[in-house]
Amino acid sequence: MRILIAEDDEVLSDGLCRSMRQTGYAVDCVRDGLSANTILSGEQPFDLVILDLGLPKVDGFTVLKGLREKNRQVPVIILTARDAEEDRVKGLDLGADDYMIKPFSLPELEARVRALIRRGQCGVNPVYSCGTLTYDSVGRRAAIDGETLDLTTRELSVLEALMSRIGWVISKEQLLERLYSYSEEASSNAIEVYIHRLRKKIEPAGVTIRTIRGLGYIIDRVNSAHD
Ligand code: CA
Repeated sequence: MRILIAEDDEVLSDGLCRSMRQTGYAVDCVRDGLSANTILSGEQPFDLVILDLGLPKVDGFTVLKGLREKNRQVPVIILTARDAEEDRVKGLDLGADDYMIKPFSLPELEARVRALIRRGQCGVNPVYSCGTLTYDSVGRRAAIDGETLDLTTRELSVLEALMSRIGWVISKEQLLERLYSYSEEASSNAIEVYIHRLRKKIEPAGVTIRTIRGLGYIIDRVNSAHD
């Protein structure tokens, strides 16, 4: 999951960024509306945008308007100190999915982020299973026979990528995109380390991650008594 935070308040932006990364999202932060427009017109799709209204250069309303005019359906949460009813109405009318007034509670914002991501996955079963191994993409929890596995956030992201496309090869580049934001230094060696650790942890379920040389990784469908 990839999130963009457009917020010019440095302390708030850093805090949000840190907490979202800890949850396991790949997070990009921009400090003005122009940079928000640029990154949002790029090729890399975002799963969610947290958008401040009072942004330098181009304000949040204009960023949102431009996004919807381009028919980009990415969920947007407006985060702002403006609590006037007309601002809330304007934001929602322009296509925001949610609206939070500063100061706000971080757990509440995180819950709203989860809710929007869940809604974005409507019609898709958010729990993937392969034999006795299950992955709940909303709760970000992996389990074998119902026993929760102790995985790091990065390991969970790799597993999510593979479990959401069982039977498909996922390239190293795709994994890197999911795990790291633009600003983070990413190495493909790190991916190999995560795969190595994951293999050991999911081994009890009889599920293997195969390396397809030159292409990437794949989890094959398995037939088990549980299917
Ligand atoms: Ca601001």
